[in-house]
Amino acid sequence: MHVLLAASELHPYSKTGGLADAVGSLGRALARSGVRVTVVTPFYRGMASRMGPVTGTPWRFDLLLGGEWVEGEFMRVREESGMEVWFVRNDPFFDRPGLYNEGQHDYADNAARFLFLARAALLVARHAAVPVEVVHAHDWQVGMLPLLVHHARIAGGWHGAPRTLFTIHNLAYQGGFASQAWLLSGLPWSWYHLESAAHGGGVNFLKAGLCLADALSTVSPRYAREICTPEFGCGLDGVLRRREHDLCGILNGVDYAEWNTTRNPALPHAYDSADLRGKALNKAALQREMGLAEDASVPLFGNVSRLTDQKGCDLLAQALERMLPGERMQFALLGSGDPVLERSFRSLAARFPGRVAARIGFDPGLAHRIEAASDFYVMPSRFEPCGLNQLYSLRYGAIPVVRATGGLADSVVDARDDAASATGIHFHEASVTALHWAMRKALALHASPEAMEHYRLNGMNRDFSWETQAREYVRLYGEILHGP
Ligand code: ADP
Repeated sequence: MHVLLAASELHPYSKTGGLADAVGSLGRALARSGVRVTVVTPFYRGMASRMGPVTGTPWRFDLLLGGEWVEGEFMRVREESGMEVWFVRNDPFFDRPGLYNEGQHDYADNAARFLFLARAALLVARHAAVPVEVVHAHDWQVGMLPLLVHHARIAGGWHGAPRTLFTIHNLAYQGGFASQAWLLSGLPWSWYHLESAAHGGGVNFLKAGLCLADALSTVSPRYAREICTPEFGCGLDGVLRRREHDLCGILNGVDYAEWNTTRNPALPHAYDSADLRGKALNKAALQREMGLAEDASVPLFGNVSRLTDQKGCDLLAQALERMLPGERMQFALLGSGDPVLERSFRSLAARFPGRVAARIGFDPGLAHRIEAASDFYVMPSRFEPCGLNQLYSLRYGAIPVVRATGGLADSVVDARDDAASATGIHFHEASVTALHWAMRKALALHASPEAMEHYRLNGMNRDFSWETQAREYVRLYGEILHGP
């Protein structure tokens, strides 16, 4: 089987969040299992140093984009796993400081940049030496790709066109633009209607994928159900309900070659579930690194996150405000995003020195060290399609305290549901009071070393490897091609 993955991020070349991890790990796991995998992704600034040798000569192409010819180039890299990556190069579009924005401002030409990517992916699919059977597009940036394939199949005489799967990693980001953006697609206006990309008077890239892909998936079973409701549907729940039978949820996996506690260059001390002494040493090392008081016995809560409303960081800052004056605890944060939230965490760190540390920025190594050092990992997300950090924290022995939504509910077991297999603490309401209650429950758990060990070992021994999850995708590709 030959599958083409199209995505705007691919770890380790580019990353702003979980999309990059998911696409990279899925592609490599598929390739290792014998699937032929081609990934199409942009060539952003600074990537050359992270790439292996380019094979063959670059392939140049031109696309008529909104009345102007735009030149591009494909650079191919074949990875050790067998996965082949086709980097789409167009420096005016992609050689920029950010992937989607600078500061809080989205690039004004994002519609053109990502339609260029989607149309480039279509070229690769059409001209692949070995025919592509499934085009698997990820998130709004390539939401138009299933529509482009569908158009080429129906109107463009592409017999044997591949089937398409569209995966929603986060429904809240939709790629909404003015209707003039349609011109960039190169498709006739007769194809612009409410059953394709038209939405609210403009063009919605994500909706095009939802309407025209042969099948839809998202990154956890619970989120698949949630997004069909008005509460989580971000205005597209009607479209999703119509396609409910074509929609499934497959939980993301973890790349344990990178996210492990035994052979990890980012961690000063190795440990595993059979010997947790290294975890205590990592805690002391992080306390020194981040300027927290060095104390083995104080409960340490960690969080690594985009600082956004979605992640409930405002709830977390307020719960900490309530707890810190009276409770014996520490908190370590790594994140960046909303300037108001950045200020609240900086202010907590200034007012509770030695007890709160806030590092504003993006630092993959520190993300590993916070997971390894923490006793508890807090994720109070308002919604969470899958969430990766709670999966990492399970393996790292940091007990997750999570809002029971999306992938958090699917991956963390609360004692009230199954005491023997408990791995973390759930709370339900997206409120400061509910989060405060859950964090106090964590403090009570910390007072019992046996209970801590029970939760920790249950979590560390859970397996969320991509090998297992990739098999689910292979099964889904098979269904798309041959029926259930
Ligand atoms: P989302 O994709 O919604 O941001 P996920 O939990 O799915 O959330 O994935 C987030 C990924 O990004 C994780 O690998 C996490 O470690 C990483 N990450 C988020 N913020 C930072 C940061 N400031 N520094 C380093 N890594 C980060």
